[in-house]
Order: sequence, then structure tokens, then C-alpha cells
Amino acid sequence: MNPASFYQRQTILKEIGDAGQKKLTQARVLIIGAGGLGHPVATYLAGAGVGHLTICDHDHVEESNLHRQILFTPKDIGKPKAEVLSDRIRAQNPLIQVHTINHKLTASNAQQHLACIDVIVDCCDNFATKFLLHDSAFLWSKDLVQASIYQMEGQLQIFPFQTQGRDQGCLRCLWPTVPSANAVGSCAQAGVIGAVPGVLGTLQAMEVIKLICGFGRSTCAATTTINLLDLQTDTLKWRKQAQCSLCGDSPTITTINEQAYQNETTCEVNSEVDIELSDLNPEEFILIDLRSSDERLKSPTRASSEALLFSDYEHWKNQISKTQKTLFICQRGFRSADIAQRFRSQGYQACYSLKGGIENAAI
Ligand SMILES: [Zn+2]
Repeated sequence: MNPASFYQRQTILKEIGDAGQKKLTQARVLIIGAGGLGHPVATYLAGAGVGHLTICDHDHVEESNLHRQILFTPKDIGKPKAEVLSDRIRAQNPLIQVHTINHKLTASNAQQHLACIDVIVDCCDNFATKFLLHDSAFLWSKDLVQASIYQMEGQLQIFPFQTQGRDQGCLRCLWPTVPSANAVGSCAQAGVIGAVPGVLGTLQAMEVIKLICGFGRSTCAATTTINLLDLQTDTLKWRKQAQCSLCGDSPTITTINEQAYQNETTCEVNSEVDIELSDLNPEEFILIDLRSSDERLKSPTRASSEALLFSDYEHWKNQISKTQKTLFICQRGFRSADIAQRFRSQGYQACYSLKGGIENAAI
């Protein structure tokens, strides 16, 4: 194998060149999750010549994985995912080093596994691990590229804490606490077409290559949502919050506390929060709309409502009273349930969320 000819088609790009290829060869990237996102990420980073790739997953291949985890074959069923994916990637590009972690990344082993890493690629499917990776990336100044999918939609978030510093805001400015595990459905419950994580994982790989080589522009402290039903994209940018528990002026999260990430559900959504349209009189409630401006344009509400950015939470805490009936609405009822729960945990017992969101009950 001759590196010059292997990488020739990308080194002729002015954005890569020999200097960029050298940076890729020296880069150390950790992929968390060898599933639908992890496969395209691993494939394209190996192809690009990332010199040190580590693949971490504690699961085994199942038959229901094969339609989207495209490098697995029926012969792999029952084998450790991280090992099988690592073998495929080594075969794809023998010029790079591929390392395998067959156990779960936890708060107690995170520092050990992240110590020598430049970029973390979050391809996992649970909030506890996403927050663990995010907080670790912030505290130890690593770049982080996150993606998640829900049915036909994907979300991408980039936190270049190593290459661009820690002043742009963090995930906890938007979501102060780890959302409940049931705030969004898993692939098993919600369903997934393999091409959706394929698209998002490919975007993650491209963002990693941009970060390593230092070209292009990435929107940071923002969630980019891509709806693959109509190819519409929407970017929700948020502001750094002075009171953020991680990046704010007086942070309370200063180390990785092993207890904080043990439960997959640290903020359980109380079923009393969810309210059906038929059970409420909209005139009794202040309506607060959590959707982005694009979402609001697509499905306007008939009732008048105030718009609220997720990051305006602290502001709204001073605007509504603890006894005022307040109904949060969003597209599907996940964000609204989470924020209503967050208000309730602060003593605002008259906060509710419209069950199923605007999609299920036009208001
Ligand atoms: Zn923050």
C-alpha cells in the first residue's frame, strides 16, 4: 500500500494537501457507538486516513441491526460489535491503526479512554452517555461531534472545545440537566431507515475531517436539524448562559462525578405533566411555544402563544408565577415535557406539556 496513491484523490484538494494529510495521519479519534452512525463515521474516517481510530461499543451484533449497520453481515450475529467493525476498518485501510474498546464508556473509565484523544465522535443513543461525553470533552478540552436521529430526522451538534476553546457555550446552556431516557424514542421503539443514520454519520465524519485539517466553517453551540422527509434543515443557535452549571461564571460541574451519569434517567418525566387537548381549556393557560421559527411557520397555532427559546428558561422562571397554569407546546411533545418537568422540579406545579405536541393536536 502506497499512502501517496491511496490518498491521492483527496490530497489534490487545496483544503487537504500534504499538510492536511499529515494532520489526519497524526489525529487520534474515538468513535463511541458501532451502530448506524458509527459505521459511516468509521468508514469515512478510515478512508480519509485518520491515523489512530478507536472504536468503542459494548454490544453484540443482532439480526435487527443489519439493515442499517452496513458493515455487519449475518455471519457476525452474536459477535462483539466493536471488534467486528474494527476488523472491517483494518481491512479497508491497512495504513492506519485501529484500536478496540469492548466495554461501555463510563464516568469511571472516561478519563483513561479520552486522555490521548483529539476528537470524540458521539454515535451513541442514550442521553446519559451523551452528557458524559459532552462534559468530559468540555472539562478536558476535546473536540466533540454529536449526532442523533429520530425517525426521518437527524440532529448534528459540534463542540470544538479543543480547537476553538470553551467560550461559545455548551450543551448544558440548552439542556441544564440530562433529559429523561423516554424524552425521545429509541430506534427499537421509534423505527429507523438505515439511510437516515447513514446521512448523519457521513456528516459527522466530514465535520471531524474539517476540524482536524482546519478548513471550512462549523456552526457551534447550535443544533442543526435535518428533516429527510423534505430535505429541510434548520439551525437553532443558542447563547452561552452565565448561570450554566458547566461553562457559566460559577460552574458546579468541575469534575466527572461517577454518580451523575450512572442512571440513564436522571430527570424522570412525570406522567401528570402530559395533558391532552381535550382535558384543557386553552383560555385558562398561558401558552409557551418551544418550537423554532421554521417549525412555527409550518404549523401555526390558532391560539396566541409566546415564543420561548429553550435557553430562555431562567428568564421565564421570573415571568410566570408558581400558580399560573402554563402550557408548553412543541412539535412532538418531547421538548415541552422536559421543560415542564424542569419547571415543576423548581416548584411550578401548574406547568404542563401538550401530549404528542402540535403534530398530534393542533391548538
Ligand atoms: Zn454551558
